[in-house]
Amino acid sequence: MARKAYGSQGRRTARGRGHAGSAATDAAYGNGRAEGSGLEAALSGVAAGTEGMVLDLQRMIRQPSVSARDEGLEECALLLGSMLEDAGLDSEVLHLKPGGRVGRASGTRAGPPPPPPPPPVVFAERRSESNPDKTLLFYNHYDVQPEEPVELWRYGPFDAVRRGNRVYGRGAIDDKGEIAARIRAVGSYIRETGDVPCNIKFVIEGEEEIGSGHLPRYLSRYRRKFACDGVIWEFGYVDPRGRPVVGLGMKGLMFVELTARGPAGDAHSSLAVLIKNPAWRIVEALSTMRRADGRITIPGWYDDVRRLTARDVRLLEAEEFDEASFRREYGVDGFVGGLRGLGAKKALAGAATCNIAGISSGYSGSGAKTVLPAVAVAKLDFRLVPDMVPSRQFGLITRHLEANGFADVRARMLHGEAAARTDPSEQFVRNVRDAASASFGSEPVVCISNPAAGPMHAFQKALGAPCVSVGGTYVFSKIHSPNEFARVDLLKKTAACMCRIMDVFGRQS
Ligand SMILES: [Zn+2]
Repeated sequence: MARKAYGSQGRRTARGRGHAGSAATDAAYGNGRAEGSGLEAALSGVAAGTEGMVLDLQRMIRQPSVSARDEGLEECALLLGSMLEDAGLDSEVLHLKPGGRVGRASGTRAGPPPPPPPPPVVFAERRSESNPDKTLLFYNHYDVQPEEPVELWRYGPFDAVRRGNRVYGRGAIDDKGEIAARIRAVGSYIRETGDVPCNIKFVIEGEEEIGSGHLPRYLSRYRRKFACDGVIWEFGYVDPRGRPVVGLGMKGLMFVELTARGPAGDAHSSLAVLIKNPAWRIVEALSTMRRADGRITIPGWYDDVRRLTARDVRLLEAEEFDEASFRREYGVDGFVGGLRGLGAKKALAGAATCNIAGISSGYSGSGAKTVLPAVAVAKLDFRLVPDMVPSRQFGLITRHLEANGFADVRARMLHGEAAARTDPSEQFVRNVRDAASASFGSEPVVCISNPAAGPMHAFQKALGAPCVSVGGTYVFSKIHSPNEFARVDLLKKTAACMCRIMDVFGRQS
């Protein structure tokens, strides 16, 4: 029913000043920057349009878009493009040619098959007639994680079943619920006032769940098209007490593979007296890279790390961290290096890591097999913090291996993205905090950096705009797991929050 709010009439006529049916709100909004003009109308449009927002979300979930399997991406991009058009924006589905960062066949016919083309990016724009000088950009992703294990889902992962306040499905909140709330917010503004308080852009990519491999290329190719003054990041958490978490940063991530080779083929282990075992080489090399307390011992590793400021530390102190339930959740007795309290929070937000993601070599089946393996591989992920540069850090690893007699251990960087952190004193951050506090009914928690990685640095580098995350992702929404769900009450608050952000951001000079 409420889908009517985005009926085709709205789509075709909302562009012009004389948007039918909103003469009164147009008049109120016609004063341009008058305080809050149009906001009340947009907020009531959001409140009245909740059911329509849920239907939008269900439509999105029912279009599977699993980037890991390259499934349904183009279809989902087209669906989103049409939903954005329905909301009153101009949309485009952008493509890149294959190549660039993705490895290429060497030119011989017998080479590996070419990689699939990069998933499209959905771009949409609505220019503000009253305030064309400020631009707010929403970054999101339409791809989702694989739905497996399917048998653990209570409802079909792509059925988008609604039960009371919840909508279940893969991508329900990561990231389709967040998208639905944003489209509803912008659509309500357009529908109710015939305009938006600042220029609005959407950049919705299709491979966030597999590392955003082509996003930097899209960002540099379409730098001018995507130009903006502030970016609202793809998600935002709501803590168990219902407080919105305003996030200012993401760590970076470097993924490295180490390979050691021994004999030409697996050998009888009696020869271990003569032949070097590559598994030992990997273990010995790894043991020179990190101390048991987590400190990375590669020379120069911390040279470029930006120290936490006194203000950062104050924000961390105010953040909640329930150590006991965290330990219970993960079944661990204590933390690395004996960290506790503020130390643990500082590490989550601002410490670099060297993690062994996996080691493989030789025989690991049941029972015994006396073998001296031919090859050993270790997969390592390093969380990076501002201002570490992945290529420089990788250079430190190769130099360290050579300097310590491990020139035979080959290192390869599979992925590298730098960290990003927006300054808490930015006006944009204050705008988002105020909007979140008014919409969620409680003071937001400011989180200086998410412990996970994301392509925020690519945005800051290409567009030079501050990035802030805020949204309706309840912390226990089972994202990436079976029974992922979105909470309708939080999506509604998120849509209202987005209206308030557009309003206050648009009014600032
Ligand atoms: Zn995700």
